[in-house]
Amino acid sequence: MSAITTDARLDEGALSELARSFRGELIRPGDPDYDEHRKIWNGSIDRFPALIARCAGVADVIEAVRFARDTGLLVAVRGGGHSFAGLSVCDGGVVVDLGPMKGIRVDPDARTVRAQAGVLLGELDRETQAFGLAVPAGIVTHTGLAGLTLGGGIGWLMRKHGLTIDQLLAVDLVTAEGELVRASETENAELFWGVRGGGGNFGIVTEFEFRLNPVGPIVMAGPIFWPMEESPRVLRFYRDWITDVPDELTTIVIHRRAPALPWVPSELHGAHVVAIGCCYAGPVEDGERVVAPLRKFGSPVLDLCVPKPFVEHQAMFDPGLPHGWHYYFRSCDVAELSDEIIDTVVDHSLRMKSPVNTFPIFQLGGAVGRVGEDETAFGGRRAGHTININATTVTSEGFDEEREWSRGLWSALEPHHTSVYVNFLMEEGEDRIRQAYGPQKYDRLRALKRRYDPDNLFRLNQNIEP
Ligand SMILES: Cc1cc2nc3c(=O)[nH]c(=O)nc-3n(C[C@H](O)[C@H](O)[C@H](O)COP(=O)(O)OP(=O)(O)OC[C@H]3O[C@@H](n4cnc5c(N)ncnc54)[C@H](O)[C@@H]3O)c2cc1C
Repeated sequence: MSAITTDARLDEGALSELARSFRGELIRPGDPDYDEHRKIWNGSIDRFPALIARCAGVADVIEAVRFARDTGLLVAVRGGGHSFAGLSVCDGGVVVDLGPMKGIRVDPDARTVRAQAGVLLGELDRETQAFGLAVPAGIVTHTGLAGLTLGGGIGWLMRKHGLTIDQLLAVDLVTAEGELVRASETENAELFWGVRGGGGNFGIVTEFEFRLNPVGPIVMAGPIFWPMEESPRVLRFYRDWITDVPDELTTIVIHRRAPALPWVPSELHGAHVVAIGCCYAGPVEDGERVVAPLRKFGSPVLDLCVPKPFVEHQAMFDPGLPHGWHYYFRSCDVAELSDEIIDTVVDHSLRMKSPVNTFPIFQLGGAVGRVGEDETAFGGRRAGHTININATTVTSEGFDEEREWSRGLWSALEPHHTSVYVNFLMEEGEDRIRQAYGPQKYDRLRALKRRYDPDNLFRLNQNIEP
């Protein structure tokens, strides 16, 4: 392999060779669709690859990997383009874009689904919910299944059905050598361990196979809002209440200024609020009974927790996290919501300026914590909560200030950090990646990296250096 370079000049001979058999699209600077396809979800990131290889199938992925190896170009791999840090696009290199690979096949009898690497979460739910089944995944429908799964996958169903990787049965993966391998509990088992949390370090996954579980299609779900000034009281009640709720219930706490959306009364628009979002993955009547104490606590200003289609609930956060806005994140896991953590979170949240900032505190536990810490590469299963401090502005205006706000809250919480979810990292350096996995798993991942990608072809990720 030649030395990896970000130099934008392409080897025209090698490119013509690639173009002869490539079934998808090869897009270069100056092509009409170039800007559309180089853009990613995070509008604060603006990079200019030399080539975007939009793969139509596995053969295209193999050819694109071999092309990148042989020409020494930097490789970015793109599933849904939602990497917070923008790791799915690069300056001067080649983007292996899996976006066109949208195949989904549900087997309702076997309760399994196969999904290709360009599938988005909403597309997967659409197909599986037609049979009242689901894969536990994330909370925004336009997120890519590929990147989310390879980092772990947390969301509304996790306390009942585990992380996304806990329902993963197998992957097909193209290695740095350009060879297709399958990994499961019985084939290439160490690789299968590594892809369940180790991200895109070992190759490009072209297809995932998951176990399906019955969910809904109607679930008791939605957020309940209180004024943010009441958050210290609400969160103390919440913290005690969740110690005793069934695994069917997953909750997410949100601090934000109420959005100007049709379902929010106009008098609340812009007000600082705390919301607790619920999703009960079981019979609606049971869900109504379980969430009743929360709905009755204090005086909520808005209660949208009602029976609704699971797919509708999954889309709830979509309007608040659109493509193209400017985003920055700091994240950490904590063991529990102690008085000190609650007071710190509320104190900082009351100083949040941007009307579009929204940051979640995910409730973990249940099925997530019942899988052994070493059974998959994912780190932090024993944490109580994952906090993802999101600084958002619509344009670059005010972005620096919000970013400082996010950093400030993260630093204030530092004494309480236990671990960090790898998919919620920005480009934060090797120590933070180590923290995400813990030292033993990091070393095991490194050994796997040496075996599958010794030259670090796949380096634009939360990189485990060989
Ligand atoms: C709006 C939004 C909501 C989110 N909500 C959640 C949530 O609820 N739960 C959660 O767990 N996470 C969530 N995330 C984080 C999300 O898991 C990561 O951003 C993830 O990387 C997104 O995957 P993607 O395919 O869209 O990303 P991309 O940017 O396309 O890829 C990210 C990285 O994943 C790797 N990668 C992607 N595809 C492949 C592949 N096929 N083979 C090998 N490597 C690959 C590459 O290293 C790439 O750099 C959210 C992110 C956003 C932006």
